[in-house]
Amino acid sequence: NSSLAFVTDAPKDKLLGGLLSPDFDESSCLSRYQSALYWKQLSNTPSPYLIAKLRSYEALHRRCGPNTEPYKNAIQQLKSNHSAGRMECNYVVWVPSDGLGNRIMTIVSVFLYALLNDKVLLTHHSDDFRDLFCEPFPESSWVLPSDFPVKDLENLYTYTPWSSKNVLRKKVDTKNVLPPGYLYVHLTHDARFSDHSFFCEEYQQLLQSFPWLLLRSNQYFVPALFRSSQYEKELSLLFPETTSVFHHLGRYLLHPTNSVWGYITRYYDAYLVHAEERVGLQIRIFPNVRISSDQMLDQILNCSLYEKLLPGIDSEGAVNPATWGGKLKAVLVTTLYSGYFEKLRNMYYEHATTTGELIAVYQPSHEEKQHTEQQNHNKKALMEMYLLSFSDSLITSGCSTFGYVAQGLGGLKPWILLRPEKESPACARAVSMEPCFHAPRAYQCIAETGRNAREEVARHVRQCEDVAEGLKIV
Ligand code: GDP
Repeated sequence: NSSLAFVTDAPKDKLLGGLLSPDFDESSCLSRYQSALYWKQLSNTPSPYLIAKLRSYEALHRRCGPNTEPYKNAIQQLKSNHSAGRMECNYVVWVPSDGLGNRIMTIVSVFLYALLNDKVLLTHHSDDFRDLFCEPFPESSWVLPSDFPVKDLENLYTYTPWSSKNVLRKKVDTKNVLPPGYLYVHLTHDARFSDHSFFCEEYQQLLQSFPWLLLRSNQYFVPALFRSSQYEKELSLLFPETTSVFHHLGRYLLHPTNSVWGYITRYYDAYLVHAEERVGLQIRIFPNVRISSDQMLDQILNCSLYEKLLPGIDSEGAVNPATWGGKLKAVLVTTLYSGYFEKLRNMYYEHATTTGELIAVYQPSHEEKQHTEQQNHNKKALMEMYLLSFSDSLITSGCSTFGYVAQGLGGLKPWILLRPEKESPACARAVSMEPCFHAPRAYQCIAETGRNAREEVARHVRQCEDVAEGLKIV
């Protein structure tokens, strides 16, 4: 297999230390067992407790997944329009919101929620989301069947009568009104204080009484689960290294389909394989941030030169000796735009470097605009997240979930380019590879308000480097 030709070190553990189940047909999803060849070694191995939990989750999913008897019973219950309490199998349905990075943040968060609450994760696949990921659980499916009785999943919002906000805060009198077959949980960035009752311990019993939770979010809300004392013990067993939640669960769940894996491996083999070192550079310009491309490029160069991620140029124009034996470094640029790549590439072929290194610059695509509604656009986004995750070092743009996916999968602590208003420094080294929970402001629970939430969770959860009001696991 030519795509593996570059592998020179000892055979790597294709099951990622027991994280992955061996029960799959390898050819149906090549990335599942081949990704390990491209990533560096796991920065820490999954705990035996996590491995056992995943195997028992897989058994649960096999027993309760689509088309099983318990699934059919739960659907009957849902159709009857009222909830009669916990059933043999209980489900949490992921409803997509926003770009691919945001979606991935939430899939991982909802999966952890399912693990902690013995629920079965089903995912609603819109057309733009098809053929991106392989099935993660053996002998079953995580795709919500198309005949699921709740039809308007994309239109559910915090104001729907059966939202967690309305039901849990008792705006709906569940004593006199029969609760419906499901509860909608709204956890996008605009979630209000009351939506976040979802995390509060006083509502857990009521929450558990719904066999169907439909959950929409664009957030990495794992830090909120870490803050909840009800999960503390279990989380410490699952993740003795608290900073590897996304790393392990992402590598467990997110396997690109053979079609996307083809994009990834062909690109890697054609452009990146021969470099001695690979630097990933993710440039995300948010529409609400005013920054010119020259300012952005300055910021990138200031960061990468100061942190010695890229060499400076020799403006005297010296030519490398013919017997050049310097190092070949590849820079993989990912961004929606084309100008950065050209400027960087030109800079490094028009000048010699001060270190004698040769710098090759590549960019797989420049889509110009976000088009989450287009499947092939999303395939390229996934390809680039993966390629970035194969880097030796990574520079990302602050606040971007696209970059979080790459750092988490790769097990990398990136240098984060900061918003330009903070002029100095140009970037900050992430304290952990975990993504940031951008909008936790409303997640205090009534019983806990008055205490300083930040202090309380200081042991595991801190302010993010890139979003002042955000929280991340450290
Ligand atoms: P975020 O908005 O940066 O948090 O990341 P998301 O992934 O949620 O949304 C941004 C979307 O814009 C991506 O999913 C892609 O569709 C597109 N996009 C942004 N940056 C890039 C890039 O560097 N490469 C590609 N191919 N697409 C990008």
